[in-house]
Amino acid sequence: MKNVKEILLFFFIFIMICGMACSGNNAPQTDQSGKEYTSTYICPMHCEGSGSAETGECPVCGMDYVKNKDAKH
Ligand SMILES: [Zn+2]
Repeated sequence: MKNVKEILLFFFIFIMICGMACSGNNAPQTDQSGKEYTSTYICPMHCEGSGSAETGECPVCGMDYVKNKDAKH
């Protein structure tokens, strides 16, 4: 029953894509996919070009980086 598995896989992928697209549409206008949002340490102001894997300070506004609880590993 190979076709059943393929249909289930397709359905699963479709749900995932739909979920991502829907959440993207509902997201605020700010793009939160940059490293100023995804780095382990980020500027509290999310300045463009900020963000680092280590502690430090923002090169844009000079504020100390804070640990990003949403950081991806
Ligand atoms: Zn900053």
